Amino acid sequence: MFFFKMLGTAAGGGVPQWNCACQFCDRCRTSPQNVAPRLQLQAALSGDGKAWFLLNASPDLRIQIEANSELQPSPGLGRRNTPITGIVLTTADLDQVLGVLLLREFQPLTIYATALVRKTLEANSFFRMLERVPNQLTWVEIVPGKKFSLGESGIYCTPIPLEGSLPFYARELDTGEPGQASLGLLLEKDGRRIAYTPSLPEITKELREIYRTCDTVLADGTFWSDAELNRTHAGTPLARSIGHVPLSGEDGTIALLADLDFPRRIFVHINNTNPILDASSPEHRAVMDAGWQVAHDGWQLDQ
Ligand SMILES: [Zn+2]
Repeated sequence: MFFFKMLGTAAGGGVPQWNCACQFCDRCRTSPQNVAPRLQLQAALSGDGKAWFLLNASPDLRIQIEANSELQPSPGLGRRNTPITGIVLTTADLDQVLGVLLLREFQPLTIYATALVRKTLEANSFFRMLERVPNQLTWVEIVPGKKFSLGESGIYCTPIPLEGSLPFYARELDTGEPGQASLGLLLEKDGRRIAYTPSLPEITKELREIYRTCDTVLADGTFWSDAELNRTHAGTPLARSIGHVPLSGEDGTIALLADLDFPRRIFVHINNTNPILDASSPEHRAVMDAGWQVAHDGWQLDQ
């Protein structure tokens, strides 16, 4: 068995975003039947449906746990328990690590992270709340390209090094070492191979070789076009300049992966400016026609 579930599918800020009145945030508020609300990116996986691992930890994690009974404590196991066994961190971005702080109620946790991501979090005094009692937090160091086992789950995980630097709040800690600040993940169990790459600064030959061997690829669906964010909010950057290959165009993700025949391809991490959020848009239609799915909160892999 290999359970894989998306608990949130939006990019940072979610859909709608608290301070955004762009057309999709507005339509999400006024007609959610056309533009569905989405929580910030969060994935969970399990080898048996009982012990669960989180891929990063979003600021919406508390709501995501309450919306998914698999992740909730069970009264039969005592007053304090959780099926959440560990967290794999692929970045130190706030949108992907703030949720760790929400899990601080003296609950023992295992965090898998690179040495640099660990150092970044430990440099922040908030994270001392996770080390108030002995054995509250267990760090497992992960290394780009080196396969490791996710606890006793039977799931193997290989970190895929990506271009990327530490976020603004920690930029002075950056070492420039490839794959330390940003990772994709190759997840394997029982012959099934899933690539989890919600942030793609470029589609390299190496990445295509990994995708070629996968049955399921979850890819960066942040922006439809390079200029989309900038067109919506003046003064904001282009998609590629902030580490996201857009979906459309001759050099976009859809075109660059069109010749690979892995069976299942899904976009995650969708920004609230992306027209594919509207199920009736031509862009959404183009994504479907190209054989891609647009993940929604609660999306899960068939067993
Ligand atoms: Zn918006």
